[in-house]
Amino acid sequence: MLKKALAVLLAAASLPAIAQAPAAESPAAAPRLIVAISVDQFSADLFSEYRPFYSGGLKRLSEGAVFPRGYQSHAATETCPGHSTILTGSRPSRTGIIANSWMDLNAARADKTIYCAEDESRPGTSSSNYVPSSIHLRVPTLGGRMKAANPAARVVSVAGKDRAAIMMGGPRADQTWWLSPKGYVSYPGVATPPLVARVNEIFTQRLATVNPGFELPPQCAPKDFPVSVGGGKSVGTGRFARPADNFGAFRASPEQDALTLAFAAAAIENVGLGKQAQTDIISIGLSATDVIGHAYGTEGTESCIQIDRLDRELGAFFDQLDKQGLDYIVILTADHGGHDLPERHRQNAMPMEQRVDRALMPRALSEAVAAKTGIGSKDLIQGDGPSGDLYFDRSLSRTQRAKVEAATLALLRAHPQVETVFTKAQLAAAPSPSGPPESWSLLQEAKASFDPERSGDLLLLLKPRITPIADPVKGSVATHGSPWDTDRRVPILFWRKGMQHFEQPLGVETVDIMPTLAALIHLPVPRNEIDGRCLDLTAGEGDSCTGQ
Ligand SMILES: [Zn+2]
Repeated sequence: MLKKALAVLLAAASLPAIAQAPAAESPAAAPRLIVAISVDQFSADLFSEYRPFYSGGLKRLSEGAVFPRGYQSHAATETCPGHSTILTGSRPSRTGIIANSWMDLNAARADKTIYCAEDESRPGTSSSNYVPSSIHLRVPTLGGRMKAANPAARVVSVAGKDRAAIMMGGPRADQTWWLSPKGYVSYPGVATPPLVARVNEIFTQRLATVNPGFELPPQCAPKDFPVSVGGGKSVGTGRFARPADNFGAFRASPEQDALTLAFAAAAIENVGLGKQAQTDIISIGLSATDVIGHAYGTEGTESCIQIDRLDRELGAFFDQLDKQGLDYIVILTADHGGHDLPERHRQNAMPMEQRVDRALMPRALSEAVAAKTGIGSKDLIQGDGPSGDLYFDRSLSRTQRAKVEAATLALLRAHPQVETVFTKAQLAAAPSPSGPPESWSLLQEAKASFDPERSGDLLLLLKPRITPIADPVKGSVATHGSPWDTDRRVPILFWRKGMQHFEQPLGVETVDIMPTLAALIHLPVPRNEIDGRCLDLTAGEGDSCTGQ
């Protein structure tokens, strides 16, 4: 299916061809193309669980420079912060992307929730009906730095989710595309080039075609049993059978990533990426693993089929790049890890797994604190869920606020599901983390995603083995976002033709990716502008960080 789609897409190529540049002369020569792939919610655990079964793209990447226990080191292990670290070399405390959304209680508009990838100053918008924008990203991406050094460098970003495309591409990307129910779209006012129009036609055709479902690969058979989450709903045995024109089902299926990869391969050829004298970059956000993880959990047949399909589609994608004769380096990682649903965990030797107590939801917490303090206010405490940043009503007097804070802290700290609560003052005073990410304290992790302007008045962290979804019947059954290692650990895989394999099991950070790539293309990055460090990708003697 991918090959056929590519052939059609490439026939629609419209930009003039670029003169073929000579191939790299030596391993120290800069690759002509950086392919940066983020697989949303691809935890280090998922990567290692299926490693014996890889035969496609993930097998190839497992034979390069392998960091099987990389870290999205910060506490707020969500999609937007995670994607903001991958190509900036900076933790969320520096990128400014502290969560998928935060609150600005002083915002001019009625909706005080701010989506990470929107421009809330645009009239008539809300956090759910927003104008996509990169304005909240406080630092340049690798692509932006490459263009600053050489304006001829081309920067393309495609993804299933807008926040993935925007946070990896950054404001200077030549093209930024993400999947909507209408196909791939970009910022307002960006015209749709012929290639994207053709991709969108293919998308519409695929969506209109029923998917009978995928075969169960042999390694998935032991996982093929139903797990009930109540309300007559169960997960664990899905095959992604999809009726025609159901976009939600398309997104929550391996079909989504296959389309994004077909688009990326066609865009590389169409734009002529990797065929110039300098290095170009494409970032690719593959979002299906996350949608599937939320909808079905991480340990059922659904996730197993998805990883199998992802491996194959990545393999076909790399084969296409090889056919184009490109000298490219791949980096594949994830924006965060994940955690399976408590109902299946309990069946698999984890009887202590729980869903969150509804009393911890901001509205319930507000009511409890109002009753305790006698200070009534509809939105005394605001936040987007039962963990993470909490904000106090801005209309409180200084005395009232102190009383509310004390009462909230006392209530939360006495709750059996609460690990800890940090105040804004505590986080502001904490030093920035350093040292191995596997040994950081919760305060250090929280500091890594703290922003004095955007963070809450309190940061609530739940105990491990608590899923912050009270009701799994209507929406998601499982999630991520915690400061625990299930959500922090992600694979970091580098591969380039001729690279000698090595494996480094110690913790490194996703913020190390950008300086590592920058060194390969001889792009200077001032050390004080980033949090990461260059990883030497040369096995044995030699050092790719110094070019020796
Ligand atoms: Zn994500």
